[in-house]
Amino acid sequence: MPDGRITKRTPARDAAIRRRRRGVLVVIGGLIVLVALVYAFRPGDSGSAAEQSLTSQSAIDRAAEKAAKGALEGAKAADAVEQRLWSIGQFANKVPAGDGVNSGTGAGNSVALTFDDGPGQQTWDVLALLKRYRMHATFFVIGQNIANNPGALAAIVADGHVVGDHTWSHASLPSLNAAGLKTEIGDTQAAIQKETGHNLTIMRPPFGDFTEKTNEWVRSRGMMPILWTIDSNDWALHDSRTIANNILNSPALKPGAIILLHDGTMNRQVTVNALPMILDGLVARGLRSVTVPELLRMGPPSIARPGDYKLSDYAKATN
Ligand SMILES: [Zn+2]
Repeated sequence: MPDGRITKRTPARDAAIRRRRRGVLVVIGGLIVLVALVYAFRPGDSGSAAEQSLTSQSAIDRAAEKAAKGALEGAKAADAVEQRLWSIGQFANKVPAGDGVNSGTGAGNSVALTFDDGPGQQTWDVLALLKRYRMHATFFVIGQNIANNPGALAAIVADGHVVGDHTWSHASLPSLNAAGLKTEIGDTQAAIQKETGHNLTIMRPPFGDFTEKTNEWVRSRGMMPILWTIDSNDWALHDSRTIANNILNSPALKPGAIILLHDGTMNRQVTVNALPMILDGLVARGLRSVTVPELLRMGPPSIARPGDYKLSDYAKATN
């Protein structure tokens, strides 16, 4: 007897049956996955999921411990930079409050090149030359020049050099009252500290003009007045060879010497041109330039008394 269902069987109907079977298989497969997931994440189980969670916690603890240690080492490294670059150390205590520093200790082979009146256009050239010779220097900065030379202070500090206070507008200190000292020295100190993130420890009186009273004021702000041992006269000269010779032929060129140069406020190309000769000369004499704080930490400095620097009137007329 003929079966209607059998007689109705066609390739199209077979395909429909295969699709249904595939659909059933997909549903069964999905259920198996679902059951496995429910089993794996069932609550209150002391099996693999809980162990995995414990492991993760200890890994978190180890990572946190490592990070805390890293942060501590980072803080120690920052302290080390503060100590190495900015601290003037215990020997500074030997300088009477009314006096300043004329030179560092004569020990070792270190001198200190210092650049005043910047930052300025030539600061970048000075930095490039110091880097080439792997020497370090100190920059006594004028407050009002900072904003006009964006990035200069950061570049100075990034290269391992140190910044000092040289007043806001290159003022002669003895004529200033307390309010004037605060504006000229205090505001510059604050501006540099804000820009560099370091506490200033050194200050240079413009024109070498200072009294016991101004020195005491500078010391009360946590800074040491730093004068110089050798004046290159680069502020008055137009010949680079003479500037270099003023340093290299000076009888004062020996370990501990603090050397005065300029990198800002006016065009200092003549100083930039002299610098390779100066640096070559230091190398030839077995000397190296370090920062003033570094020099001061090597031993007791020699002292600059008020009235020791007589060039100020000439400097004022020329600079
Ligand atoms: Zn100056």
